[in-house]
Amino acid sequence: MWSLPFFMPLSLIFSSQQPSNLNILITTTGYKEVTLLENIKIPPILRIPTHVKAFSCSLCGVCCTNKWKIDIDDLSFETMLKHFEKLGRQRELYDAMLFRHKGQQIRFLPNGKCPFLSDNNLCNIQLQFGWEYMADICNMYPRRIFSSPRGLEFSLSLSCATAVHTLIQPKITIERLHHEPHDQQNKAFYFIPPRTLEEYSPASAPLGSLRRHYYHVEDLLLKLMQDRDYSLNQRLIALGRVIELSVNYHNGDGENLTHSLHVALKNSDRTYIKANIRGNLQQLHFVINSYLTRSAPTSGPPSPPSPPSAILPSTVTPFEKALELVRAKVMTLSYEEYGRQLARYYHPENDVIPIILENYLVNSILSKDFFFQVPPLAYYKMAFFYAISIVFALGYCIETDQTINQQIMLQAICDVENIFYQEWFYLHGTALLAEYGETRMMRNSIALVQF
Ligand code: SF4
Repeated sequence: MWSLPFFMPLSLIFSSQQPSNLNILITTTGYKEVTLLENIKIPPILRIPTHVKAFSCSLCGVCCTNKWKIDIDDLSFETMLKHFEKLGRQRELYDAMLFRHKGQQIRFLPNGKCPFLSDNNLCNIQLQFGWEYMADICNMYPRRIFSSPRGLEFSLSLSCATAVHTLIQPKITIERLHHEPHDQQNKAFYFIPPRTLEEYSPASAPLGSLRRHYYHVEDLLLKLMQDRDYSLNQRLIALGRVIELSVNYHNGDGENLTHSLHVALKNSDRTYIKANIRGNLQQLHFVINSYLTRSAPTSGPPSPPSPPSAILPSTVTPFEKALELVRAKVMTLSYEEYGRQLARYYHPENDVIPIILENYLVNSILSKDFFFQVPPLAYYKMAFFYAISIVFALGYCIETDQTINQQIMLQAICDVENIFYQEWFYLHGTALLAEYGETRMMRNSIALVQF
């Protein structure tokens, strides 16, 4: 499905006992350099969030269909090709690929399935040759992995409907496990080293930049997002205001930001939060108009194609229906009616909903956006995904006349991840940043979470 512009996922397989059978997708138009695993010195530590550890593929096979674009990285392709050539079956591999200007993608069958998908939703490459011949991207999904001087770190792509269910847990914590690369059997967390790995290293970031302080900042962000003394809106607004201040004060100063986060944690002003339905709906209209139509921004890079054509090149799937439904049910509401519908259907404080959303935001932090993006863009993404997930959930509630519940919330998050989490989100965000500047971007982002 989507390309991940800032992170090249790595090939990992893990499950409690056996390599995962499920393999899929996504890739990578990485802006960052990818390094061969053998060239990276990784400390023998795995930092595994509890929801990542809880994930187990249900073999639904959804991610092996042509709803998603599956880019195969060159190294993986070469490995596969050598093996297919040895068997005299290279034609089979060539037929299964679409060759692009840069790289190659899976060429799906007319029935929408990956040509290597077996009838029981296993991967024939793994079944016939072994996991080591599979593409990195297929071995990894839906996990994401990051390498840094503190070890290997993980998060999840929540476009997988099974992965999104891992958000139902009381609180995400991070387990540190000792990793012995040559003795991986029977470990609590099975993992096979990828061919290539993308590294991040705060110590090599410029002095005074946020990245330089990233470990500390990440700890603070997690603490803030899990501080249940405050509502999620309060936590998000406090974070937004800190970033806003840091942008105005001293752009990119990591010390200022970390200090301000400390202060925000201690002094979150409960009275600051005011319902701002109008601002929220205005922003959401803006988002819908920007992302879901072909209207181009007035400046910056050209607008990418609308999600249905970008994600669903040849099929009509529920994602299109979800988009239509949300546009019809929510985006047509007046400010007043929107507020009334929220009050009628959305009662997160009485449910497991805030915990699911908190875990969603925690997973987002663990995906390292605040390292790889400038803070306003990372914050915009976080605020946007939070707000739009609630909008989708509200649309589903209105459609089915049900108060928000766990299933609706998870469905909304999964749909939103499928529809919006792709390259064009960043292109659009970057264009917005260029057009509006950081201060206005922050103001708009904070408006997204005020309701
Ligand atoms: S969508 Fe998720 S659960 Fe389904 S096959 Fe893919 S990884 Fe497994």
